[in-house]
Amino acid sequence: MSTSLREANRQRVVEELRRHGNLSRADLARLMGLSPTTITAVVADLRARGLVVEESERGEQAGRGRPPVLLRLDPSAGGALGIDFGHRHLRVAVADLSRMVLAERVTDLDVDAAAEGSLDAAAAMVEDVLLEAGMDRDRIVGAGVGLPGPIDARTGTVGSSVILPGWVGLRPTEELERRLGVGVKVDNDANLGALGEVSFGAGRGLSDVLYVKVSSGIGAGLVLGGRLYHGAVGLAGELGHVQVREHGDVCRCGNRGCLETVAAAGAVLAALHRTHRADLGVRDVLALIAAGDPGARRVVDDAGRAIGRVLADACNILNPTAIVVGGELSTAGAPLLAGIRESIDRYAQPAIAQAVQITPGALGERAEVLGALAAIIGDTDRLRSAGLVGL
Ligand SMILES: [Zn+2]
Repeated sequence: MSTSLREANRQRVVEELRRHGNLSRADLARLMGLSPTTITAVVADLRARGLVVEESERGEQAGRGRPPVLLRLDPSAGGALGIDFGHRHLRVAVADLSRMVLAERVTDLDVDAAAEGSLDAAAAMVEDVLLEAGMDRDRIVGAGVGLPGPIDARTGTVGSSVILPGWVGLRPTEELERRLGVGVKVDNDANLGALGEVSFGAGRGLSDVLYVKVSSGIGAGLVLGGRLYHGAVGLAGELGHVQVREHGDVCRCGNRGCLETVAAAGAVLAALHRTHRADLGVRDVLALIAAGDPGARRVVDDAGRAIGRVLADACNILNPTAIVVGGELSTAGAPLLAGIRESIDRYAQPAIAQAVQITPGALGERAEVLGALAAIIGDTDRLRSAGLVGL
């Protein structure tokens, strides 16, 4: 076998193990369309390089013969960090290259108000998770970082002066690289949520997925042809700023009548203030819906319809397999999803509406941090430069 073919096969095995976590040799032979003999030779090669380990599947029922030997990437081969800055929280996780999360922490934090303080807090939490996981920093391949604002891919800075004002002028990539001592990849939170759900959650195995995050803002992450789509300068997916009411309320982006002003958490809460407590929070609304409160259900259903109206146009353009709905408000479940479904059925082309599944996210508030890990673990160039693939 030629050297380049061996190298290509090694790389494919590493990629399949990254994608699936663990696999038997028979699985690999089937997935790669190669003979068991070839797989055995490639695996022996990877084991000799310390990249792959073999283990028996635990919990296999007795009496069914010998459990299959599963292969996974050697956890000691390297690790990745995920950091998710929310508007009100900070979540940090470390995983090995087989995508197993080894340690994870979350804290409440006003990320909008204090950018420098948030960056310092992230660096301190990274210390904690590395210690807890027993992972040396020099084995970390990189850190994926999510920010709740548009990220300009040309500069790595927050691409709006009004959406995340405390972060204007900061270069989060460089600031974090300096604090962490590892390479950093910054992306928008909805993009990472999309990557999380297609890598680990409700969009697993699907190649055309529209992920919508409905929280204090509304954002979308587009996975097209199996890859995250960023657009010309990294700002694709600003679904929340599609104008739905020409003379509507002024939005935080400066425009008027954006979808966010009608259907994000703030709009839902404002609609309930007259009839319910004035200091109502999103968690209260979710509790009201669970208890069958008709007003809360109605308001969230209407928010779903407004979001669905915009998604119907997006569906006509992109024809996705699935829309995965994440973010705080997605846990409202049925009323939000039913509203979205209704608008898509009404306004998208019938065949397109029929083809699209609408499903809640499976990862909840962990979608972004898991996507941040996937952004690093799935980055073959980054792994190659760390000497972990293409050997
Ligand atoms: Zn706007």
